[in-house]
Amino acid sequence: MRVSKYILPTLKENPSDAVVLSHRLMVRAGLMRKESAGMYAYLPLGLRVLRKITNIVKEEMDRAGAHECLMPELTNADYWKESGRWETMGPEMFRITDRNGLEYSLGPTHEEAFTNLVRSVISSYRDLPINLYQINTKFRDEIRPRFGVIRSKEFIMKDAYSFDIDQKGLDESYNAMAKAYRRIFERCGLETIPVQADSGNMGGSASEEFMVASDIGEETLLLCEKCGYRANSEKAEYTRPAAGSKSAAEEMKEVHTPDIKTIDDLVKFFKCEEGMFLKSIIYVADGKPLMVVVPGSREVNEHKLKNFTGALELDLATDEIVQKVTGAPFGSAGPAGIKDTRIIFDISVKDMSNAVTGANKMDYHFSGVNPGRDFAVKEEADVTSARAGDICPKCGAPMYEKKGIEVGHIFKLGYKYTKAMNLTVLDEKGGSVTPIMGCYGIGVNRTMAAVVEQCSDERGIIWPKEVAPFQVHLVGISKTDDETMAVDEIYEKLIAAGIDVLYDDRKASPGFKFADADLIGIPLRITAGKGFFANGELEFKERSGKEILNVPADKLLDTIKEYLK
Ligand code: ATP
Ligand code: MG
Repeated sequence: MRVSKYILPTLKENPSDAVVLSHRLMVRAGLMRKESAGMYAYLPLGLRVLRKITNIVKEEMDRAGAHECLMPELTNADYWKESGRWETMGPEMFRITDRNGLEYSLGPTHEEAFTNLVRSVISSYRDLPINLYQINTKFRDEIRPRFGVIRSKEFIMKDAYSFDIDQKGLDESYNAMAKAYRRIFERCGLETIPVQADSGNMGGSASEEFMVASDIGEETLLLCEKCGYRANSEKAEYTRPAAGSKSAAEEMKEVHTPDIKTIDDLVKFFKCEEGMFLKSIIYVADGKPLMVVVPGSREVNEHKLKNFTGALELDLATDEIVQKVTGAPFGSAGPAGIKDTRIIFDISVKDMSNAVTGANKMDYHFSGVNPGRDFAVKEEADVTSARAGDICPKCGAPMYEKKGIEVGHIFKLGYKYTKAMNLTVLDEKGGSVTPIMGCYGIGVNRTMAAVVEQCSDERGIIWPKEVAPFQVHLVGISKTDDETMAVDEIYEKLIAAGIDVLYDDRKASPGFKFADADLIGIPLRITAGKGFFANGELEFKERSGKEILNVPADKLLDTIKEYLK
């Protein structure tokens, strides 16, 4: 491709709305442009990268035995109603009504659509296992679209759905995907950290997220250097420190604490550590109030709470409900004296002594509170989030934290959709059996952005070989027509040899061309300049390195092929 005939609107300045590196570079390198908030158009150079990634995904999915399909992006509301998600998907799902009043969603995900498809084409255990996938656009009305294509309203996802006759089959389908994902990201030149993720109530190693370590990541990962335990913060467990010998139990006392609401206020007022307080938070779980009690130094982990209670919907209680449950306004709740409301205690609470809690009375707290004596600890669970320094649940070493961008997710779904949508097949004995599902997603555009986040320097992008928009960037620095013709010949030779080459044939200064080459980041730059016109030597430079190699024109193809290997 000749740059003079291409559309390559590179920019020197960062776009003012781009706050992260990948967004800035993807716009500046002429890969994409914003269409409107959370929506991007890909220019030819960007589309090439997107296609390369898509092809890698496709090849590895096919290799793993999955079959490609293509679903409508308008998905029929009837199927969402069958699964119950028409009601539960909330405002993230775009909904549409046609002229006849039929309802659809612009597919944010396709579990229902694929379950329906499989229901219509499969009838026997002999047809299973099967894993179907598509690479297609998804629509999500994200609350905060941001970071360019990392979180956009419209994006391309590879989503796959496996159907197996039993749990053992699902384990195999899932493991095949776990392997395929590792290959995909490796081929994309991305270093990913697979972490255990929240899997609802499927348990075990039923869900893995593929994370790219990055300061702009919206996910927090808990990692153990010693044993390799890795989980996202929704899921990460931690061992509570062994209880020391309890100090002698004090008497529980009511203390007047006017205007004291926050943990910070309490720390100042009682002159003790955050961990000495018990935070009591009122939720509403599937319509019923619920109190959760955790140390003041910890946050409630709502994913863990949801899994433990099995609640489908979990919300913080309104002031009105708090008043009803505790008899006092917000900020005064405590477990002592609460009747008729379910209370769940974090597993660290029972070992505490002489704690401070709300007294369920405006402007009063209790001090000298002792779990077991002053209130019963009936239901205990791990309902707080782990953080850096916490003890690894597997080996006891301290864990550390990293931020990560989620690029892929594999998940053992279970029977949720096949049961709700009544998908059954005949089993060996002529009876009927409900298949078990897994689902597997990769954000293709987000993967592209994650590669840019990971592979760049101060001058621009450094594409890994397999996803680069072109294999070779040929820069011609000719002054005369004869010289230009000589470079054109090199270009034709490369094209004839089947090499994907971007040829900068513009009438511009070498400095300008090199700056663009560095910004665009094609892995191999070949310059035909003075040395070429004088003695037939081309300059080879890898984008990732500094060294310049002089290669005689007759060794050109061999050297490139060696490099591309
Ligand atoms: P997130 O927690 O980032 O919102 P998710 O859990 O909603 O992700 P999934 O439903 O598992 O994501 O989707 C599969 C993949 O699709 C994700 O791993 C991610 O790579 C990609 N993805 C999800 N939402 C977006 C988005 N708004 N823009 C771009 N890619 C996305
Ligand atoms: Mg999401």
